[in-house]
Amino acid sequence: MSTKQFKAESKRLLEMMIHSIYTHKEIFLRELISNASDAIDKLYFKSLTDDKVGLNKDDFAIWIEADKGARTLKITDNGIGMTEEELENNLGTIANSGSFKFKNENKLEEDNQIIGQFGVGFYSAFMVAKKVTVISKAYGSDKAYRWESEGVDGYTISKDEKASAGTIIILELLDDTDDEKYGEFLDEYRIKGLIKKYSDYIRFPIKMEVTHSRPKEQSEEDKEAKKPLEYEEYVEVETLNSMTPMWKKSKSELKEEDYKHFYTEKFFDYNEPLKYAHVKNEGVPSYNALLYIPSKAPFDYYTKEYEKGLQLYSNGVLIMDKCSDLLPDYFSFVKGLVDSEDLSLNISREMLQHDRQLKVIAKSIEKTVSSELKKLLKNEREKYEEFWKAFGIQIKYGVYADYGMNKEKLQDLLLFSSSNEHKLVTLDEYVTGMREEQKYIYYATGESIARIEQLPQTELVKDNGFEILYLTDSVDEFAVKVIGKYKDKEFKNVSADDLGLESPEKKEEFKAKEEESADMLDELKNALDGKVTKVALSQRLKSHPVCLTSEGEITLEMEKVLNALPNDQRVHAQRVLEINPEHEIFTKLQEINKSGDKEKLAKYAKLLYTQALLIEGMPVDNPVEFSNLICELM
Ligand code: ADP
Repeated sequence: MSTKQFKAESKRLLEMMIHSIYTHKEIFLRELISNASDAIDKLYFKSLTDDKVGLNKDDFAIWIEADKGARTLKITDNGIGMTEEELENNLGTIANSGSFKFKNENKLEEDNQIIGQFGVGFYSAFMVAKKVTVISKAYGSDKAYRWESEGVDGYTISKDEKASAGTIIILELLDDTDDEKYGEFLDEYRIKGLIKKYSDYIRFPIKMEVTHSRPKEQSEEDKEAKKPLEYEEYVEVETLNSMTPMWKKSKSELKEEDYKHFYTEKFFDYNEPLKYAHVKNEGVPSYNALLYIPSKAPFDYYTKEYEKGLQLYSNGVLIMDKCSDLLPDYFSFVKGLVDSEDLSLNISREMLQHDRQLKVIAKSIEKTVSSELKKLLKNEREKYEEFWKAFGIQIKYGVYADYGMNKEKLQDLLLFSSSNEHKLVTLDEYVTGMREEQKYIYYATGESIARIEQLPQTELVKDNGFEILYLTDSVDEFAVKVIGKYKDKEFKNVSADDLGLESPEKKEEFKAKEEESADMLDELKNALDGKVTKVALSQRLKSHPVCLTSEGEITLEMEKVLNALPNDQRVHAQRVLEINPEHEIFTKLQEINKSGDKEKLAKYAKLLYTQALLIEGMPVDNPVEFSNLICELM
């Protein structure tokens, strides 16, 4: 029988395990028990629809046996077992292990921290054992196999005998050293403690033969003579875990730490959650849920690979790992699980989608998440801003998606940067802070706050002392447009034509000026050869000579965003070149126009238009021409 080599990455992990710090090593037991429980889950699930399994719920168990003489610890389950191929694939390579994948992609350096936080599955056995033997028989197969390994050097697989389906794992513990006493993992007391600590909620009994002692029966004479009691030892099989899943326990039994530990464990997150909720719904359908809001977005959150969903249990039995119907897209970051007695166990994925009970649960979960977020916003602003940094975009997409169907539910969760002290504000805070004479909620768009601050279009609004929301994400303006009005206040882009800031007299004055310059503005527009739909005088500019705005539904920012999408349709904002009538350049233009030098006027038009493009952060159509024009004028 030849020794097979581990795959390279498995070897690395093994080495990491072997050299991990001692205090983390105890988690090996939790890992092996968790695997055993998963394997039993699979066979139990089968047994519900397949009489051939021949086991009842009460027959399933995990057994622990410690043999101090042989220095071995044995973990046995009557779960689904593994075929020869599965032994090879599951234990010969670690690439399948969920936790290891996580580690690789996150490039976390702190190996030990990972082990401590959530362990790395089967391989953790090598933290305490010099030799690991796995004897397994897969359900439905008539052959059993033995997998053996002494660590990094490789493993062997050979035929073996075993009566029924399931797996036995035998650890030959490492020798004790001065500061690492592996032998203690054979102490009853230590094993009991570890199981209470890590595996109490495992749904199947974890059994062990426990030695007790009791006083021997005394004869009447001995009693008379008041002889001291003699003790005898006896062995009894004890179930070491309470088997109550954490979410079914009462809230008063649980500490914050329990919830957090459960989260980092179960959902492979190295960071503590920002918030958790333990829901116990006694109504119909009745359900328990544990919901978590992560503090950081998973590395794949904003990719196609990310799968939203909650674990779904039917009375403690896992029926689906990621039930996506339980979460709306805008809350796709929520992690957790739902357990309901009112769901059928044998329900298929397709049927589940139409399940009425599930829909009711999903609705109620959405309400819980929403109210938890609102609580966070109200009571723990800093944490909420952390949440917003990680998942704000998702909420904004939620406002915009489905034609704004969910905007009412989500709009009070929104935060925007603001011109006031560069803080993040809610719409409610903005509206509450509005001045009496202020009609609109003003906003400006751009790729960064710094860029927006330089936009000439913001000058007038700021001079009036009005706050401006700075929209820097591409989805922002779409979301704002979909909301339309908040508390009866309309949103207004600072680039819009009517900002509602001008007095009637000023408007009249302006109108007159515009009529007076109509010919020249037309001339300028023609010179731009269809690039703009209008050249107009600007009421909003203070110190800048020109700016580019748009008329109609599509703004310049939306044009940028929509055209960046991968499709063939190109949209164009109707561009308006605005000229500041109070600027010297305007007087200059008037002079040229009067002199009748049309060619020169056209050159000025091109220059000013290109300047406006640059300020807007848009590509210049013809840089060479622009450069030549500047030289010529210089
Ligand atoms: P993970 O549990 O993260 O998938 P492990 O390294 O702990 O990674 O286990 C690898 C795989 O080996 C498991 O996914 C499972 O398929 C299989 N396995 C481990 N222990 C058992 C067992 N006791 N019974 C059946 N299969 C098992």
